[in-house]
Amino acid sequence: MKFGIIGAGATGLAAAYDLSSKGHKVKIYEAADFIGGHASTFQVAGSELEKGYHHWFTNDTDIISLMAEIGLEETIKWFPSSVGTFQDGEIYKFLSPFDLMKYKPLGVIDRIKMGISSLQIRYIKEWQKLESISAKEWLIRNTNIKIYAAFWEPMLRGKFGEENHDKISMAWIWGKMTTRFASRKNIFTKEVLGYPNGSFSHFFGQLAKTCELNSAEIFLSTQIKRIRGSNSGEVLMTIGPQEKEEAFDAVISSTPSHVFNRLAEGLSNEYRSKLLNVKYMAAVLIILVLEYPLSDVYWLNIADRSIPFIGLIEHTNLVGSERYGNTHIVYLSNYLSEDHELYKMDGSELFDSYLPHLKKINPDFTVEWVKEYHHHKIPNAQPVVDTNYGKNIPAHQTGIQNLYLANTSQVYPQDRGTNYSVAMGRKMAHLALSNLKNK
Ligand SMILES: Cc1cc2nc3c(=O)[nH]c(=O)nc-3n(C[C@H](O)[C@H](O)[C@H](O)COP(=O)(O)OP(=O)(O)OC[C@H]3O[C@@H](n4cnc5c(N)ncnc54)[C@H](O)[C@@H]3O)c2cc1C
Repeated sequence: MKFGIIGAGATGLAAAYDLSSKGHKVKIYEAADFIGGHASTFQVAGSELEKGYHHWFTNDTDIISLMAEIGLEETIKWFPSSVGTFQDGEIYKFLSPFDLMKYKPLGVIDRIKMGISSLQIRYIKEWQKLESISAKEWLIRNTNIKIYAAFWEPMLRGKFGEENHDKISMAWIWGKMTTRFASRKNIFTKEVLGYPNGSFSHFFGQLAKTCELNSAEIFLSTQIKRIRGSNSGEVLMTIGPQEKEEAFDAVISSTPSHVFNRLAEGLSNEYRSKLLNVKYMAAVLIILVLEYPLSDVYWLNIADRSIPFIGLIEHTNLVGSERYGNTHIVYLSNYLSEDHELYKMDGSELFDSYLPHLKKINPDFTVEWVKEYHHHKIPNAQPVVDTNYGKNIPAHQTGIQNLYLANTSQVYPQDRGTNYSVAMGRKMAHLALSNLKNK
């Protein structure tokens, strides 16, 4: 059978891998001139590095299994992680429950309450009951406004921006917390995170190579312009600048929902309204290559509202600086809507606006530490998971026979991630095949 895949990110390549491994003819179309999608890399200090910080949790079992299948399991290295919050001029580390006791922005009673509520979230079994409650409402009700404002609000504001942070569903916090807890043996042990030797590009490169060895074809810089169904059940795609139409037994699209709405003809109004209901935040990153480390923490949430970025992820504090010529790699991260002034800035404007704030985090920092910097904008980076999001997720089966949608907006209640994209891509391959066989 002949399959068309739109997108050469984690979802598209995982689907292509399964279908091509079973001997089917597979064609993968990718609009960009590179593979890897949101987890793609660029060259920095002599190595490949993700445009947006990436790591795996120990319970990312779907991608770990796929790594094993393509012979890369040994290349995943596990590192102790360190998380902190920057507030009131200080870095507060959260490596164990005892660190919470040193968190001065909250009084002692609130620190204890905060710890108890985190455990309470971990042990919630029926997460569905949290779907219709906003994280803000649940957290204030179960802790108090001070704890919410000091700890949770900066995290929500950072991920979903000014306009969305108070609408996010408590189910999303549940998904996030259970994943993070699962990456520790118990609450007293340190979290460990995984990162592959040779970066995520090693994984994508090997996966694409395996697909090609299975005779799959990958077409880069080739945008799909239009998709339509047919009476025979074949799916027709208009491909690339020549706008050539080609027929497939089934098509799996990993495009964002609003893009799919634009491409696909013949969708029902109900399905279209679900596609358009999905809102996305874009990510914007400044990546610093520094002479010296800025901190000794991997993941620093910025709760200080005078600082214009919300996350400082010091990649080399997780994986070491050796692979980057002993330089120190720091991501300054923001999730924004695409019309936000910080998103519209070019790299040098954004770098200049962030620069004065780095001294707040490390008073020794000077601009001479910066050997180079890079700027990346990633549209459609994070679906906005507001209350009752789960009820409006577009189905994988689009209503057009043999046309499937598989994108990050359908990962729920877990936070989107390469692990879930791989699982979804493989699930779609299986579904598309079994529907064709049962015809
Ligand atoms: C800043 C940031 C940090 C992240 N951190 C982590 C992390 O630590 N760990 C983790 O596991 N995950 C992380 N993620 C999430 C992870 O990157 C994504 O969940 C995953 O890569 C999504 O894969 P995908 O294939 O579903 O989508 P995408 O990667 O978006 O792939 C879709 C592809 O479709 C292509 N496309 C779109 N329209 C067309 C068209 N018309 N024709 C042809 N091609 C088209 C796009 O160019 C793209 O390559 C992070 C994401 C971001 C943005």
